Amino acid sequence: MKLSNSGYTCFLGCNKQFYYEHVERRVPVAENPAFALGTAVHEGLEEFWHGKDLNTALTRAVRDISDGIMKSQVIAMVSGYFNRWSMDDWETVSVEEEVFTEIGDVTHVMKADVVARRKSDGRLFLIDHKTVGVRSCNGDLHDASSQFWMGMKINTQATGYQVALENKYGEPVDVLWDAILKHADREPKYFPRKPTRRKPSKKNPDGESHIEYAARCLEAIESPEGYQHRLIGEYHSDSQRYFARKVIARTSRHREEWVKMYGHVGSEIARCKESGVFPANQSHCISKYGKCPYYNVCHELDTIDSVNYKDKPERYSQPKEERVEF
Ligand code: SF4
Repeated sequence: MKLSNSGYTCFLGCNKQFYYEHVERRVPVAENPAFALGTAVHEGLEEFWHGKDLNTALTRAVRDISDGIMKSQVIAMVSGYFNRWSMDDWETVSVEEEVFTEIGDVTHVMKADVVARRKSDGRLFLIDHKTVGVRSCNGDLHDASSQFWMGMKINTQATGYQVALENKYGEPVDVLWDAILKHADREPKYFPRKPTRRKPSKKNPDGESHIEYAARCLEAIESPEGYQHRLIGEYHSDSQRYFARKVIARTSRHREEWVKMYGHVGSEIARCKESGVFPANQSHCISKYGKCPYYNVCHELDTIDSVNYKDKPERYSQPKEERVEF
């Protein structure tokens, strides 16, 4: 049985969700916008690590984005990354490399964002890109005590990736988190901040007419071009704020524990498949990412075969996991 890190965490979150996504292999047609931004930025950064120029990276990053606001954010983040970091001390070994590792009866499958060697000391790194929301790092991407970095310190995905890569390359692999802060302004700003001073009122009967007021409010909204220009400017001029890299060490105990946990979860999944029972975890129905994508199916307002769901695309080159009939 193949098991990726996302399958592992999905199973631990809710067995029933795992069944829909990894056994039935059905996923929602509508993509979560937060994931779309992260995917686009990842694709742009792939080109950076392939040694391509900024134009190539931007073309690839925005090719599937129709939303102009999101496009501006992606352009600012990717161009800011090119401005902040250089390849001088790095030699790319692989980008989006698939690695398969046998752990007991389970095959751990992964795609490493980047594997690169640091020229100055010859060490091998797994480089994992993360787009980080303002709230999860308290607005400070360098705050090691924030929710984001605290989570990264015990992140099992990185431990698993490290185990798999060390097994494959036969040498120590460090994990480098390559974080990019999302901009706090998720849409164009409204300038000036307080246009209401001239709004007509009983106290101010000589104020503008409502039509004049409405027209001025419209003019006060930042144009899409202005928004993009402002974001690019900020990601370039304040790159310390928007970009951070940290190496977080994993101990041998972390690695041993991860191998045991992975094998254990693999056995649990096999047991669920055998019995045909995938217990629901209702405390997971509403999370920080919003409603579970299978909420309506569980509540019998929709079915997994409806047009709102599609077959899950295969992410790895090995044959698909077998479908289980009940
Ligand atoms: S709606 Fe709740 S019970 Fe149903 S799959 Fe999602 S998390 Fe599990």
